[in-house]
Order: sequence, then C-alpha cells, then structure tokens
Amino acid sequence: MAKKQFKSESKRLLDLMINSIYTNKDIFLREIISNASDAIDKLCFKSLTDEKVGMSRNDFKIEISANEDTRTLTVSDNGIGMDKEDLENNLGVIASSGSYKFKQEMEKDSKEDIDIIGQFGVGFYSAFMVAKDITVITKKYGCDTAYKWNSTGADGYTITECDKDTVGTDIIMIMKDNTDEESYDEYLEQYRLSALIKKYSDYIRYPIEMEMKKSRMKEETKDSDKPEYEDYFEKETLNSMVPLWQKPKKDVTDEEYNQFYMEKFMDYNQPLKVITTSVEGVVTYKAMLFIPSKTPYNYFTKEYKKGLQLYSSGVLIMDNCEDLLPEHFRFVKGVVDSPDVSLNISREMLQQDRVLKQMEKTLEKKIKNELTSMLKKSPEDYEKFWSAFGIQIKYGCVADYGTHKDELQDLLLFYSSKEKKNITLKEYVEKMKENQKYIYYATGESVETIDRLPVLELLKDNDFDILYLTDEVDEFCMQALMQYDKKELRSVLNDDLGLPEDSKEETKEEKDNSEGIINFMKDTLGDKVADVVVSKKLKSYPVVLTAKGGMSFEMERYFQQMNPDGAMKAQRVLEINPTHQVVQAMMSYIDTDMERAKKYCNLLLCQAQLLAGVDLDNTAEYSQNVLSLMD
Ligand code: ADP
Repeated sequence: MAKKQFKSESKRLLDLMINSIYTNKDIFLREIISNASDAIDKLCFKSLTDEKVGMSRNDFKIEISANEDTRTLTVSDNGIGMDKEDLENNLGVIASSGSYKFKQEMEKDSKEDIDIIGQFGVGFYSAFMVAKDITVITKKYGCDTAYKWNSTGADGYTITECDKDTVGTDIIMIMKDNTDEESYDEYLEQYRLSALIKKYSDYIRYPIEMEMKKSRMKEETKDSDKPEYEDYFEKETLNSMVPLWQKPKKDVTDEEYNQFYMEKFMDYNQPLKVITTSVEGVVTYKAMLFIPSKTPYNYFTKEYKKGLQLYSSGVLIMDNCEDLLPEHFRFVKGVVDSPDVSLNISREMLQQDRVLKQMEKTLEKKIKNELTSMLKKSPEDYEKFWSAFGIQIKYGCVADYGTHKDELQDLLLFYSSKEKKNITLKEYVEKMKENQKYIYYATGESVETIDRLPVLELLKDNDFDILYLTDEVDEFCMQALMQYDKKELRSVLNDDLGLPEDSKEETKEEKDNSEGIINFMKDTLGDKVADVVVSKKLKSYPVVLTAKGGMSFEMERYFQQMNPDGAMKAQRVLEINPTHQVVQAMMSYIDTDMERAKKYCNLLLCQAQLLAGVDLDNTAEYSQNVLSLMD
C-alpha cells in the first residue's frame, strides 16, 4: 500500500523530533496521555446530552500497558476516537499555526530545546522521540468502521481499515533500539512509567490504569521453611486525579497541605505558611503557595532554582516556571494551575508571556499581603520567616537600583536598641522623639559589639532609638532606602547627627587646646588617617573612627572580601574628645617624653580602629606599643 506523505511543514518538524537531542524525552508520555484525556472529555461531554453514548463519567479511563518482549508501549482510551478524515487531518499534518515558530526556535540553539519543550506541548509527534514505529488503532463514536494509522517516521504514513470493537483509541509505540548513548528500555519499565505519570499527569481527571507486575508468597508454601514466590498482576490507578489546589479549602486538612508540600518539594520541615488563592478575571488561575520554615541548604547557591510549578488544567507544563515569581520572593514554593496557559504550541508565545506576567503581578501582591498580615497577626511566625529569608527581602530593596523598595520596606525588621528586639521602620518612626531628626542606625558584627560603640552614648543619652544592623547587605539596604516616611536614615558615624545643639560655646582657651592636640596627632599619624577632628559625639570615650565620603567601613569590608587586592578603602577620620583624660595625658608627655606621646597617639588610633571593626595595619607594632607602656 502506498504511503502518504506528511505535509511538508510537518515533515520537517518530524525530522527534528526524531533526530533531536532532547534531554527531556520523558514528556512524550504526558502528550499522549493529554490527548487521550481530551478525547475522553469530548465523549464524556457528549454523553451528558446523548443517551446513546451509554457511558457514565466513571466508565472513562486511560490504560497503559508495556511489553518488554515486543518493546511496545500502548496507551488506550475510550474517548471519542477518530475516523479516516480525522486521522488525515490530525495526524497527517501538524495543524497548528505555532508549529513553524516552534520549529524555528528549535533550530536556533539546542540548549534552548529543553525550555521550549517544557513550555509547549509538542503533541502526538513527540512520541517519535522514543518510538521507531507508531500505530494508532481508533474507532470514532457513531462510526462503524475502525482505522489503523501507522508510521515509522518522516517517510510517511498509511491508513487502513481494521477491527476494533469499542469506541476509542489505542496508541501503540514500538520503542527505538538502544544506542550507546540512549536507552529506550526505561519507557517499558513499569516503575519508570508510573513515576512519569505521577510527575506529569497526576491530575488528569480520569483514572490512568496499569497492570502492575507484583510478587507474592505462594499460599501453599506459606508455612514451609523455603517459601516460594510467584508473580501476579494487579491493576493500579497511577494518578491521584484531583489536585489539592482544585479542592475547596475547607475540604483540605493542614496535614494534607503539609504532606503535599513536604513530598513535592522535598523538605523535611513543614511549611511555615500555606497560601491558597483563586483568581478569576483577565487571567484565571488557582495557586497553592508555601513559605518554607527554614532556609534551604542550597538557597544561596546557584543550585537553588526559583520558580513555581506550572500546570494547565491539571497537566504539568513546567517544573520551575521562573517568570511567576519576582526575585525577592524566590523562597516561595508552590504550584499554579491555569486553563489560560496552553499546553499546545498553537498559541502564540507572546500571549503566553502576557499571561505569565499578569499572574506574576497578582501572585506578588498576594504573597506580600500574606507576609504583611503574618507580621501583624502572628509576629512569632514572622520572626521565623525573617530569620530564614529576611536577608532576601533586604536584597530585594537593594536590587534593580531600589525599584522594589517601596513594595518591600514595610516588611523589613531591624534590631532596636531601645526595644531590645526586632522592629519595623514604621514602629521606629511612630516612637521617634519630637526633637529627633533622623532614623539612626549603627552597623557592626553583632548586636553586642554595636552596643558597645562609644558613639552611641550621646544618642542614648537623648533617649533616641538606634537600629543595629549586622548583615553585610544592611548598609546597602539603607543606601537604597535613604528615608522612610520622610525621615532620613542616618548612620551614627555620620559627621552630623542632628543632635540638639550644645548651648555652651567653646572658649578661646579650649579652642587653642583642641587645635594643639589635632596638629600633634595629624603630624604623628600622617597618612594613616584622612583627618583628625574634635568630636561632638563622644562623652566618656577618648576617640572614635568615622568614615568620610560615601564609603563606610562595612562596605570596605564587603568589597575587600570580593576583591582582596584592589579593594577601595573608606576614608578614615579620627574624632577625638579633647577633654578626655587619656588625650590630656598624651599631651602632657609632649614636652617630657615625645616618644611616649607618639605611642599614645598611635594607640588611640588603634583603639578607634578596633572599635570600628577595622583591621589594625600592624598588629606587631600595636602589641609592642602596649607592652612598652606596661613596663
Ligand atoms: P494537539 O493535541 O496539540 O492538538 P497533537 O499532535 O497532540 O496536537 O494531536 C493532534 C490531534 O489528533 C488532536 O488535536 C486530536 O484531534 C487528535 N488526537 C490525538 N490523539 C487522540 C486520541 N487519543 N483520541 C482522539 N483524537 C486524538
């Protein structure tokens, strides 16, 4: 019998499919099963109005069988079936406008294949990725004749009449021979098949059944010393059919949600928060999201993939759809199911993008609202969230030149010197003193080290609250925010802290005294410091090191880690308290023991460096100086 040729466009696509080097051949099964499910949908729908169909909802199913000897995998459905014309039209041509585009994309770059194949269903033809011969035996509802379609690939297909008792379609695929690189045997193994169905087709609405080969002890050998075993077959339904997110919330227990999360996203811990949402409108979707309770071990590595699982009416389209989540919420896990995302390639890509964008926008809003309400209603949970992912929110404020800071700033928490716990910027501002100009922050390695900073004394005396920042990103976060509620954020190391003015003017004598100290110290320290000035911040402490210009010590340290050799340095300013007894002592040695006075001066700088968390330039010299003064 003469072979019919595929329509030219289809032929080329088929060529690509057969010879492609996809890593994700697995999806062929999803495509074949989705087709079967669609065909059942059609007949099921007919049965509602047409009594002659003689089937009820529960009669419909998809059956899978594999035969390792003949290397065949068969997927059968009792759906609407196809007649000769359908076979010609449906399987003789790839009847989708998107196919050309798809082909072009595939030709571009083999690396992109995986994504495209994940995003779009590629239909019946994908079976040629794994099968060398495909037979379709089908009988359409309302027809007396059954037909057999057969093809071994690009060289065409045949259609002949055949026998088939029942309405529906069998797709019989003979697997390709194994090669050195590829094994196709796996698609005949029952556990592999059942795993693929669980992964991609778990929520197909009709049962997907397979005769599973099992082993049991022979009844008659039960009590003997050497029990014997026998194989037997048992039909199993491999899919769970109703997705959890399609069920009304009241019908799902916390336990079920938790279990689902832990299994699906492989986390040993229960999620901190489950978020379910159902949106109807421009784009319709249901989503079930989870906030993990702990930072995943690989969260800050490249291995961690942001994204949500994307389903189209219960069929998995993409394992990790990155476009559904903004970067600052990359810790969120979950699934989104939308009938508006097409499994077919026939939809234009642009349309797909628009749908995803729309979903991302509403999902982002939803996540933010949920976090805000957690912050208000269950602060303990929010603290847990914060310790796991707070850093991500801070990075979110900094990223993209601060584009998202308005969205995120109310989710931030910082340690408050007065409250002795984490507070929001809103809480800070609400409790600000009338004469307080700025929101103050201090950076350092830990709350304890910051708390000992001498510069905080005067602020504390004024009863002003100070935010303690201990993460590397904090400083950048403050630079991005700049202000909150029209109140400027100010580092305690800034020259001007806007403190209520000291009414007492410096006398001429005091001025001369200060000048003398400053000149001496500048001469002694040389280019170790950019400047020496009289401090307005110090009370019981003699010196403090501050940074001039845009660069702080925190930033210096950060850049140093990134690039140890060429890192820029913060400009060091040594601020002194001229009336402090140690400073006075230093000055008293100038006439009698210049060496000692210089040692004092250098040691004062060292003290200031140590307190600011800045490495000493020469630890040996420091140590010798201290020892010589102890003599
Ligand atoms: P798509 O499903 O994206 O339209 P396919 O290449 O997968 O493209 O299938 C082409 C067409 O073949 C389907 O639209 C459907 O009309 C028909 N078809 C495929 N499988 C079956 C089946 N099991 N039963 C009935 N019709 C089928």
